[in-house]
Amino acid sequence: MERKLSFSHSKVARRILFSFVLAALIPIAILGVLSFQQVKQQLQAQTAKALQRGCKDYAYGLVSRLLFAENSLRLAALKIHKSNKEDKPVALAGEQWLQGQFTGLAVLRADGQPSALSRDNAAIPTLTAEELAQILVGKTLIKPVSGQRLEDNRLWMAINLVENSPKAGILMAELKPDLLWNSETIDPNNLLWVMAADSLQILFALEQDFDPSPELRAQVAQANSGRFSWQRDGEAYLGAYWKLPVATLFFGPDLIVVQSLPESLAFAAIRQFSAIYPPVILLAALIVVYLSSRLIAKYLTPLERLKIGTQRVADGNLECRVDIDSHDEFEELADSFNEMTRRLRSQFDILATMAEIDRHILSALNAEDIIDTALNRLPSILFCDLISIAAVNPDTGIADEIRVRRSGHDAEKLAEPVILSQQDVADLRTMHNGALEIANNDERMSEYLQVLGVSGAWRYLVVPVHVNGALASLICLGYQAPKRIPPESRNAAINFGDRIAVALSNAAWEEKLYQHAHYDSLTGLPNRLVLHDRLGQEIARARRDDAQLAVFFMDLDRFKNVNDSLGHAAGDELLRQAARIFLNCVRATDLVVRLGGDEFVIVIGELHTQHNPAAFVSAVAEKVLAALKQPVTVAGLPMTVTTSIGIALFPDDADNVPDLLKNADAAMYHAKSEGRANFRFYSPELNAAALENIKLEQELRGAIGRNELLVFYQPKVDWDGRIVGAEALIRWRHTELGMISPAKFIPLAEQTSLIVEISDWVLEQTCLWVNACHAQGLGPLRISVNLSAVDFKHPELVEKIAAVLSKTGTDPSFIELELTESVAIGNIKACIERMHHLKALGLTLSMDDFGTGFSSLSYLKELPLDVLKIDQSFVRQLESDDSSAAIVRAILALADGLGMETIAEGVETAAQLELLKQHHCGLFQGYLFSRPVPSDEFLSLLQADAAKRGADLPAISSS
Ligand code: C2E
Ligand code: MG
Ligand code: MG
Repeated sequence: MERKLSFSHSKVARRILFSFVLAALIPIAILGVLSFQQVKQQLQAQTAKALQRGCKDYAYGLVSRLLFAENSLRLAALKIHKSNKEDKPVALAGEQWLQGQFTGLAVLRADGQPSALSRDNAAIPTLTAEELAQILVGKTLIKPVSGQRLEDNRLWMAINLVENSPKAGILMAELKPDLLWNSETIDPNNLLWVMAADSLQILFALEQDFDPSPELRAQVAQANSGRFSWQRDGEAYLGAYWKLPVATLFFGPDLIVVQSLPESLAFAAIRQFSAIYPPVILLAALIVVYLSSRLIAKYLTPLERLKIGTQRVADGNLECRVDIDSHDEFEELADSFNEMTRRLRSQFDILATMAEIDRHILSALNAEDIIDTALNRLPSILFCDLISIAAVNPDTGIADEIRVRRSGHDAEKLAEPVILSQQDVADLRTMHNGALEIANNDERMSEYLQVLGVSGAWRYLVVPVHVNGALASLICLGYQAPKRIPPESRNAAINFGDRIAVALSNAAWEEKLYQHAHYDSLTGLPNRLVLHDRLGQEIARARRDDAQLAVFFMDLDRFKNVNDSLGHAAGDELLRQAARIFLNCVRATDLVVRLGGDEFVIVIGELHTQHNPAAFVSAVAEKVLAALKQPVTVAGLPMTVTTSIGIALFPDDADNVPDLLKNADAAMYHAKSEGRANFRFYSPELNAAALENIKLEQELRGAIGRNELLVFYQPKVDWDGRIVGAEALIRWRHTELGMISPAKFIPLAEQTSLIVEISDWVLEQTCLWVNACHAQGLGPLRISVNLSAVDFKHPELVEKIAAVLSKTGTDPSFIELELTESVAIGNIKACIERMHHLKALGLTLSMDDFGTGFSSLSYLKELPLDVLKIDQSFVRQLESDDSSAAIVRAILALADGLGMETIAEGVETAAQLELLKQHHCGLFQGYLFSRPVPSDEFLSLLQADAAKRGADLPAISSS
């Protein structure tokens, strides 16, 4: 900033200097020229005037001398006349007074002949008749007489010797040139000459041999007085003339007095002026340059400093200051500039801090990092001596996590929380302008401010941070007196408060999102994301420690039924209870995850400590299964749930997350297929089975088109062993795999809704076959067709069946639909309604596999069922298991009570048949009578049966 002003660099300085010099010199020059002109004119006029006055003075002197000479001449004439009269000779020659004036005197007689008195006669000029006449009438004659040279010129004066007496003669006198042309008053440098106005003859000239040109003579004779200029020997002259009217006093020519002098003399003053003027101008210019450069330097140096300061600010250097000590507006400007840069600096600092905080917010760091940044950065930009930030519990008003940073110290965390008074909390809530300003002696916030441990006079700015309308945090800025709270600090603190609010709600939101993204809201267990993450870590750790780990893939058995029968709330409760049970069965270091629905995963790590990991894992699985056997209360009812567990081990079964999960899943399916409520370890074959299923599903899609599906019929017989009906059972004759059981492909078809197409096809085939039997005179027989739950819930089920019946022209009374319990539960009302619609078509409805599901006996009476079909699992254990026998008895009694037909399926032995008969079961189906057989074989069976009983075919049993 110490740079001096350089005129070579500063255009403004040069321009101002130039303007100053120009502004000063132009008037000086104009003034000089004007005054030069003026002076010249004045001098010219004065000179001419002086010359003219000189001429006039001279002329008057000349006239007075002529008059004086005339008087003297008259006096002489008087004397002459007196002496003549007395006849005394007069001795005028000796008269001094005459000699002083005249060089000669002569008396002319009346005839004009001279009688010289004191002069040679020859020198006496001859008078003309007119002159004589004029003299004789009393006039005084003035007569110039030219000589050889100018100095020889003479002037004669003549009068009557005696007045009124012409005969007395004429007195003439030659005027003494020295006296006459007395030029003492004339500047000897001047030219002076007297000339006769009539003849333009020069009578006298101050300079000898002076001979003005005829033009000049003519020029001066034109007027009575005037001025003129002329050239003499190449030199300019000024002149003036005055015509002396001699003719009015005397008889003689007027005399012109001319005076002239060289301009060089007249304008000596101007020459002097011209000599002095340029140096004066130069001096003035130098003074102007000097003074203006001083002035410019005085005013432009601060400007230059301000300019440099501004450039530095523009270059981003906000630290620069401009110091000007001129006690004028420039100093004020510099002060304003410095204040402006200070504010800018402060604003930039604030913005930088805010940007940093924003970065923290955006990068979703926790609120603590944001508060640390604030504690470190804010004091310097808000000019406070203390800053504290506390978290506030909005419910209790307790401010804890109080962090304080005092000027010159590091941030510290206060150990004790502070309970804010209700009044303080209310003040902070109701305050309008974003911040509370508290003076030292203020009662407000006193408990809080007290713990900050400051002494002396302070002022505080307290900014509450509200998140979702509740007080969440408190920012307090302290200023030690006499410092005031700067307004920009207030705004920045409020602004910062807003950011903290955003950060806190952001952090809370992030936390929520994290919870949401990573934890299951129902059970509170971690979810799939965490599983992948943690399992990855566990695998890495196990690999490092050369250890094993196990993954349990668990699916609650028949959970859907709980949901459907008891509602979703009960289902949710069961899931929560199951989650709790799982957690209780494993170590704290193990991970229990809910994948979704009724699927759970348990990761058991650190198996290296076990001597036999497989045994340990089995024990854990047993523990889980055993724990689940303890009844839990769901929807007010005691209930037990079972699960199927698939187990995969690292590294034996898979060495990465997806494969471990996939293999555990496959093992779980295996466990399900093995009767549920158990666990199975993964084996490579399971995977092959899963792959096979996928392949099978693909092939099933084209099976109908390729005529690979067939319908087999299994007879239903009465007490007498007569065939009274049959169940249509689908078969898939695979080109490579041979006959595939429906138990294998129907579940696949159910997963893809391919089942609807298959069921439609089976129904149509069955209808056609029933018609064909009747056409052959066999029957009437009632043939049952299986409907899956997916089929039953199809919105157009009733219409579709009606369409098939009408299309094939089949009597619906020969068709029975076998439903499973799962169709009858869920929306029981809709189910009953649908069953009524089916019944309305004329169809018979039976409940297949009765006793295995969750169906409550209490609503069984609501269902419009015709037949109860006792599940073969009860029949199978009828001989060995008393409880199965009890269930069969109960079912048969119930059906009897409800007026339903009964049929037992899976009857394989005569003993089973006997027992069923003892319990009054109506009909029987099973290998004991026949396996499911192709349609033609079934016709043979029918025919054999008819033959056995004669020509009559059995009537359809109605009991
Ligand atoms: P389901 O309806 O309970 O059919 C009876 C099953 O028991 C049949 O097996 C039948 O062959 C078998 N079975 C009959 N008597 C005996 C016996 O004495 N001992 C033993 N161990 N089994 C016996 P299948 O044909 O393999 O059918 C299995 C299941 O597949 C059926 O159970 C039924 O739920 C389903 N299914 C079969 N065909 C169809 C169909 O066309 N549509 C639908 N939706 N499901 C079908
Ligand atoms: Mg069936
Ligand atoms: Mg069955």
